[in-house]
Amino acid sequence: MSTPASFQIAIVPVTPLQQNCSIIKCAATGKAAICDPGGDVDKILSALHQMQAAPEAIWLTHGHFDHAGGAATLAEKLAIPIIGPHMDDKWLLDQVAAQGELYGVPGGRDVTPDRWLCDGDRVRIGKIAFDVAHCPGHTPGHVLFIHRGNGIGMFGDVLFKGSIGRTDFERSDHDALLRGIEEKILTLPDDFSFIPGHGEPSTIGAERKHNPFLQGL
Ligand SMILES: [Zn+2]
Ligand SMILES: [Zn+2]
Repeated sequence: MSTPASFQIAIVPVTPLQQNCSIIKCAATGKAAICDPGGDVDKILSALHQMQAAPEAIWLTHGHFDHAGGAATLAEKLAIPIIGPHMDDKWLLDQVAAQGELYGVPGGRDVTPDRWLCDGDRVRIGKIAFDVAHCPGHTPGHVLFIHRGNGIGMFGDVLFKGSIGRTDFERSDHDALLRGIEEKILTLPDDFSFIPGHGEPSTIGAERKHNPFLQGL
């Protein structure tokens, strides 16, 4: 068996929607990935500096502006690639700026990822690797980043503490969301922790027990 990978995760809430941008730093190499830099790029840059992290990649869970709005600017400033989400969110990434304007959060930019992700892919940073699970429903191209060894993941807007992702958007699919949660998330162990796109982190066990939206599954 391999020993647990050593890494540190810092959460930086960004945009007026307080979206949880996560910085994942490999302890062995100092290399870091930035998951969902939705905006407030200067805040993210200063968090990277404080962590003494060497940013190497941007990972996106899905194409909504509060998760992807700062990606193009950050990628340009740091000269690093944008990885993810699944190609089925291309239509959203093509209208990030317009989405932001619509919700009164201007300044976001449209995103062209350097690499699309598929179910079963792996993303690496330094010596660590996260598994990718395609989990559509909130958006068609939503992905989860899962580190089974350390029992932690970034779940974007699929599952929250006490709630689940909204499915009242264009091309959302409530049944697909529930199926994805059942197949990709509830199969993880109870002590697995996750960072949602908004609000406090939680565990699979706590959500299995208390989340009202999961009780029928
Ligand atoms: Zn979203
Ligand atoms: Zn969100």
